[in-house]
Amino acid sequence: MGTTMTRNSLYNAPFFQEMMDTTANLYRLGWDERNGGNISYLLREDELIPYLDVHHVLRTVPMSFDASALSGKYFIVTGSGKYFKNVKRDPAENLGIIRIANDGNSYEILWGFENGGVATSELPTHLMNHMQRLAVDKNHRVIMHCHATHLLAMTFTHSLKEEDFTKTLWEMCTECIVVFPDGIGVIPWIIPGTNEIGEATAEKMKDVRLVLWPHHGVFGAGQSMDEVFGLIETAEKAAQVYTVVCAQGGKKQTITDQQLQDLADAFHVVPREGILNL
Ligand SMILES: [Zn+2]
Repeated sequence: MGTTMTRNSLYNAPFFQEMMDTTANLYRLGWDERNGGNISYLLREDELIPYLDVHHVLRTVPMSFDASALSGKYFIVTGSGKYFKNVKRDPAENLGIIRIANDGNSYEILWGFENGGVATSELPTHLMNHMQRLAVDKNHRVIMHCHATHLLAMTFTHSLKEEDFTKTLWEMCTECIVVFPDGIGVIPWIIPGTNEIGEATAEKMKDVRLVLWPHHGVFGAGQSMDEVFGLIETAEKAAQVYTVVCAQGGKKQTITDQQLQDLADAFHVVPREGILNL
């Protein structure tokens, strides 16, 4: 005998809708072909309880690094090998809700990843980034990875020095310095899915919310799905403009460093040091 608790359908949960809409948008924009891209979204227990029995663990999956700083924390996350184009049609196959176990070396699947699926192979980078961003921003919640086309292309044609990369992106659209005054971080090329690439990315995430993986894609971090999507979208738009500018024969004039500083002052943001020459 037990009491039957009526729960709301998980599919109506705001965070669930955001996850479905965002994966669909990333696919629509062509930034997540095949199984490219992954998202993890930190959830509060009180957000989950109306929709899910958090005491019912379906499976436990080991991890090869220490995530004990996140023990007990919940995430909705995209699945390993899953296609963003399929998320809306079959969320339970392509998404999962997990909780980092008390030992910090495994996670518990509470919902989803049907038919034996597991969380994205980039989970080490995601969790290391969450730990790093939470250390500097208590309201941090979302890590997003995608293969934004023009940013990726720029890693073949532009200097990979992050000061140079940041300056070019800032110049390409007036709003850029306001949206990411912290600039963009760039790591060396490293095999994806490894702890090593996670550690290198998280090291950058101390200071920036955007990290470029040369010849691969970009990672974004922020307090909400909209904020992170908007951050990547803005940088990608700047990269697209850069591509068109180059195709049109290169810059004849640009936003000056003084104008960029004036913009930052007008919008009360502090540009990353070492980029503007004033
Ligand atoms: Zn990728």
